[in-house]
Amino acid sequence: MNIHEYQAKALFKTYGVAVPRGGVAFTPHEAEQVAKTLGGPVWVVKSQIHAGGRGAGRFQDDPDGKGGVRVVKSVEEVRENAAAMLGHTLVTRQTGAAGREVKRLYIEEGCDIRRELYLGMLIDRATSRITIMASTEGGMEIEEVAEAHPEKILKVSIDPATGIQAYHARRIAFGLGLDGKQVSAAVKFILATYRAFTDLDAAIIEINPLVVTGSGDVIALDAKVNFDDNALFRHAEIESLRDEAEEDPAEREASKHQLNYVKLDGSIGCMVNGAGLAMATMDIIKLYGGEPANFLDVGGGATKERVTAAFKLILADKKVEGILVNIFGGIMRCDIIAEGVVAAARDVAIGVPLVVRLEGTNVALGKQILRDSGLPILSADNLAEAAERIVNAVKEAR
Ligand code: ADP
Ligand code: MG
Repeated sequence: MNIHEYQAKALFKTYGVAVPRGGVAFTPHEAEQVAKTLGGPVWVVKSQIHAGGRGAGRFQDDPDGKGGVRVVKSVEEVRENAAAMLGHTLVTRQTGAAGREVKRLYIEEGCDIRRELYLGMLIDRATSRITIMASTEGGMEIEEVAEAHPEKILKVSIDPATGIQAYHARRIAFGLGLDGKQVSAAVKFILATYRAFTDLDAAIIEINPLVVTGSGDVIALDAKVNFDDNALFRHAEIESLRDEAEEDPAEREASKHQLNYVKLDGSIGCMVNGAGLAMATMDIIKLYGGEPANFLDVGGGATKERVTAAFKLILADKKVEGILVNIFGGIMRCDIIAEGVVAAARDVAIGVPLVVRLEGTNVALGKQILRDSGLPILSADNLAEAAERIVNAVKEAR
């Protein structure tokens, strides 16, 4: 789950992670009020969307105009720019061409930037530890830095048995070329950020840029936090920060049914149990010349209700011209799955070719149920045959 920059900064503040002063605004009038309260002489009006690259982004209706992060020098300009941004669609390199409508703004005090650095923390699957990444190349996307100047990324991995120690933070501070009081400011900052990360069960915290100010303070100018969904049950306060308007409606619907769904651009919908098998299914669809419309893992305990919800989700995508169901009955029995598929197919009018490949426990019974249903379900004995059949069936139906 993602949250907005202003929400992340409010959380940071409670952990003692230094951030500029600011306030959220939903209307130009509120923006003006926040600006007055903050006092000048410089304010920054920042679009709040769940995507980065806002500063360099452009509004759809004003492609030659200013970006989604604007530095201004009067309260009037705060109001004017707020009016020009709220309700308008911002396109950044992370939003895709469709962009995102800006519905909230963060009005922040202007900061006297001396240096722009990068600080990130994430769960590193390779080491099973939290890895801290830092770079002197703040403002740039870390993926680009990794590509062009991998030597400019400093990585420190934290042993969960000891947690973070001051020397870890000092190593980063010195690696970033900080000196004097900047070092102790950075150490305090990094220790506090790590505490927020572990306390809140974050998956990623990215501060880009982390800035050194003219007076030697070290503060977060941007804040992106992603939480581990599996831990949200113990953070009701974070769950309440969810902004559903920023989430994909299909993915939100899927998560209500415990389905792991990611929409893609192709025409062949797939329903699979297990993430690995789902990946393999997408690969083999491509191998036979098709394009998957989605990734969908129905999980190990797929019930009739879940299979029905999955069909509805797949068919809500108007690009879908065929569906491939690929189930390995390990813990689940194939006959139960077949009954679920038949019941769901009766419930939801599936107007496109449907190929079902079953394998595993009670597979013969499962196939029998599909045959006896009288529904136009194409059966397949293996993954290659299933992919070939659905790709051909879609071509023929065109
Ligand atoms: P994004 O990464 O989405 O473009 P940022 O919050 O990083 O958004 O802002 C983009 C740039 O705007 C920053 O790199 C920084 O140069 C500038 N900026 C952001 N907030 C402030 C601020 N409070 N004061 C001065 N400059 C800012
Ligand atoms: Mg940024």
